[in-house]
Amino acid sequence: MLDSRLHDDDARVAALHRLDVLDTTIEEPFEKIVTLVRTVLAVPVATVTLVDRNRQWFKAKRGIDQNETPRSVSFCTHTIQRREPLIIEDARRDPRFAMSPLVIGPPHIRSYAGVPLRTPEGYNIGALCAMDSGRRVFSPTDIAILKNFANIVCDELELRMIAQVDHLTGALTRRGFVEQAEREIARSLRYGRPTTLVLIDLDHFKSVNDTHGHAAGDQVLMELTEIAKSMLRPSDMFGRLGGEEFAMLLPETDGNEALMVAERLRTAIARHPIQLSGGNILNVTASLGVAALGNDHPGFAAWLESADTMLYAAKSAGRNCTRLSGMG
Ligand code: GH3
Ligand code: MG
Ligand code: MG
Repeated sequence: MLDSRLHDDDARVAALHRLDVLDTTIEEPFEKIVTLVRTVLAVPVATVTLVDRNRQWFKAKRGIDQNETPRSVSFCTHTIQRREPLIIEDARRDPRFAMSPLVIGPPHIRSYAGVPLRTPEGYNIGALCAMDSGRRVFSPTDIAILKNFANIVCDELELRMIAQVDHLTGALTRRGFVEQAEREIARSLRYGRPTTLVLIDLDHFKSVNDTHGHAAGDQVLMELTEIAKSMLRPSDMFGRLGGEEFAMLLPETDGNEALMVAERLRTAIARHPIQLSGGNILNVTASLGVAALGNDHPGFAAWLESADTMLYAAKSAGRNCTRLSGMG
């Protein structure tokens, strides 16, 4: 049967990008699934692999160091061209994989089972994979289990995409924030009222993770959210736009007033000691960019860009500071 969705890579990649999941951080549901696959199937390597245009990127992984590899060496690039699982008992005897760096080097994959991850529209955006460093015959039961887990991965990918609330911090997700911001833009323009956007990005956050671990980084994100929420009015909105970047939307507030709110938040963050579970105390700072909604902002994207330019200016000025766009 001809299935055009298996062969239209542009549409497939577009479906993957719509999920907004590439290059995101560790997330609990996917971690659990790769852990379960490893335990239940007794394999050393398990991954939730997403196949982008030219690379495969691991949303979750066990037993493999790389975060991504070129698509050319990928097993999953073959899996996504089929509806049924791809099973390879001995990669060294398969001309497609015998010379793959994943086979001849770490993690020394010898056998592979991959179930395509299929979106509701019917595009295979990646695969749930179990891999072993020895030859292995995957049983029908193994494959049935893997298929069930793959269904859960697909459901989780959909859920995280439509979520309005970020599971870690309780802030609005990017999607939830953008929806509310679009409504606020319409309201503000209709009544000729001011409204201002504040972008907040933690400074040197990568080094927080590198020095104190990912859990400490997560704690910082949660505490930042608490501080911000405690300072906001009920009509204000607070969202997590991505990793360690947050936004506040302040209705009925002009640029100068919002600058004061932003500065209060910046100071509160810098003064707030974060007590880590190991006993260490951590101090973090953030840089902020502020932009009032102006006539040159036909939609949220242009408005966000203005605030982002200001955030970039704050970073360039040395961080731990706030910059307001010229519009006032
Ligand atoms: P800058 O001052 O220029 O903003 O530097 P930075 O290190 O904050 O910026 P960069 O964008 O290089 O690093 C952001 C880091 O945020 C990288 C990523 O690992 C981390 N991160 C993103 N999301 C999460 C998360 O949910 N939890 C944790 N712990 N870390 C996250
Ligand atoms: Mg940062
Ligand atoms: Mg950032």
